[in-house]
Amino acid sequence: MRIVVLRLGHRIQRDQRITTHVGLTARAFGAEGMLLDSDDTGIEKSLSEVAQRWGGSFYVKRVANWKNEIRKWKEDGGKVLHLTMYGINLPDVINEVVYHDLLIVIGAEKVPPEIYELCDWNVAVGNQPHSEVAALAVVLDRLFNVSGKDPLRSSFGGGEIEIVPKKRGKEVRDI
Ligand code: SAM
Repeated sequence: MRIVVLRLGHRIQRDQRITTHVGLTARAFGAEGMLLDSDDTGIEKSLSEVAQRWGGSFYVKRVANWKNEIRKWKEDGGKVLHLTMYGINLPDVINEVVYHDLLIVIGAEKVPPEIYELCDWNVAVGNQPHSEVAALAVVLDRLFNVSGKDPLRSSFGGGEIEIVPKKRGKEVRDI
């Protein structure tokens, strides 16, 4: 199961921090990369610094035409899942969506209405408004759990440092 996140509607001034958090969350919870519908280079830079220090092969790719990315993903046999509070609630659709290669679409500002038609599923993480970061974390956790993996136990090889988990205090060691 491959999972890539497509972040739509990123506003360079307003969404820098939250889009970075979307990328960090995608990486930490098992997605392979994030496509960013923006020419903002800052997100790519900060996420690649994280991957270099903390390991793994997570990438951020800026895309000029998100519809093309959806088309290519589908041509390669993948499915597209749009996260929206207006969709079908996740527990009611999880068994249908799991095991597919998924492009998970999340918005920042209001998403273009056609996304509701272009995707295979419009999925809500509860039908209440909250945050794209929360929605992404929950959907990744549930998807990996149903498929028998725990994203919290993912290992990230190839980094420079790692945390030594401790009951108290902080320890980071060089690898
Ligand atoms: N105001 C925007 C609109 O009307 O579309 C939405 C802003 S919301 C903070 C940003 C993104 O968070 C949405 O595009 C959606 O991907 C995600 N999101 C927020 N609540 C969600 C929910 N309950 N279920 C799934 N995704 C959600």
